[in-house]
Amino acid sequence: MIVLTLNAGSSSLKFNLIEMTTETALADGIAERIGLSEGSIRWNIQGEKGRVEQDMKDHKDALKTIMDELRKTALKDGDVAGVGHRVAHGGSHFRDPILITSAVLEEIEGLSALAPLHNPANVLGIRTAMEMFPGKPQVAVFDTAFHSTIPDYAYTYGLPYEICKKHGIRRYGFHGTSHRYVAERTAVLLKKPLDSLKIITCHMGNGSSITAVDNGNSVDTSMGLTPVEGIIMGTRSGCIDPGAIVTLLDKEKLDANALNTLLNKQSGLQGVSGVSSDCRDIEDSIATNERSRLTFEVLCYGVVKYIGSYAAAMDGIDAITFTAGIGENSPGVRAWICSRIKNFMGIEIDKAANELRNKEDRLISTPGSRTAVCVIPTNEELMIARYTAKLV
Ligand code: ADP
Repeated sequence: MIVLTLNAGSSSLKFNLIEMTTETALADGIAERIGLSEGSIRWNIQGEKGRVEQDMKDHKDALKTIMDELRKTALKDGDVAGVGHRVAHGGSHFRDPILITSAVLEEIEGLSALAPLHNPANVLGIRTAMEMFPGKPQVAVFDTAFHSTIPDYAYTYGLPYEICKKHGIRRYGFHGTSHRYVAERTAVLLKKPLDSLKIITCHMGNGSSITAVDNGNSVDTSMGLTPVEGIIMGTRSGCIDPGAIVTLLDKEKLDANALNTLLNKQSGLQGVSGVSSDCRDIEDSIATNERSRLTFEVLCYGVVKYIGSYAAAMDGIDAITFTAGIGENSPGVRAWICSRIKNFMGIEIDKAANELRNKEDRLISTPGSRTAVCVIPTNEELMIARYTAKLV
């Protein structure tokens, strides 16, 4: 069985084609700047890399070009058994992946107020795939679903209860598919049942979130109502004093839109450093740029604080797992974080394993380390494909 997974952003469309018997990636790629000038599509089809510079008027245009490329190989449209879609926000209602019907699609659209940047784009991706593959099963996999087990005392904000109920304001959490995947892989790596482990999963990429996974269930996570809460990210602020928002509104004379842009696009690594939103640029300039040093430490210290609080929340932990762009690729970030909780967690890092650059699941702590520290490359697409195959 072959499954196509789609991850639609407002001007981008990521795709993966996965053969499910062997769970092999046949093709992947991304269309960028959809609806804008200077559009492009990059792909890797069975090891062959390709790229076209082409303007695409909409997501349908993009998917059509992608499918044309895929058809040049042996793939026929009929080979695709189903399409799995990454959907950012499932609200309180969607707790599991679901086959998409018109009623489901309407509900996902109705949740756009909770994720105005993401859900409308996801809906666009679904509509496009429905048109391109009429009659094929389409499955929605929600970023929020894994966090549906978070208890009420951890998802409730200290705001007026009725107002929160009215607007659905509470912690939902994101990156759920990734946190679930790496937690499962951590258990395999440690050769222990997932339901016997307390794991803190650190998904650190452009967007970052930390999750407390107890017995395989998410019990707390750093992102909240929106993906702006938590540690500082590429361009997102992460947690700040809500009073700072009032000050910003007052002193900078911002409206809601401008404030949203400031918190989501002008803050984080970019905003603090003034150098870049990319952690590599920050690390490369630490020695010469004081604000890069500061930014790096704000990032790592933020993770240290979450690890401490989630260790308390779960009454101890067995493992910390790093994943995503920064978590998988930055020995410096991992070393800084682990050195700050060395005595508290009884962590001993295997320096050579931490410095290793490969794409394998691996332990970076020594066998004697009281808390295991792991690096697990995330694979959200495979999880989405698995759910899709199951429902198809
Ligand atoms: P997204 O959240 O968009 O899926 P990724 O998980 O791909 O992002 O992470 C992208 C980020 O990973 C980049 O912005 C960069 O900061 C970081 N990154 C990638 N490689 C390295 C590296 N070798 N060292 C430090 N950071 C890295």
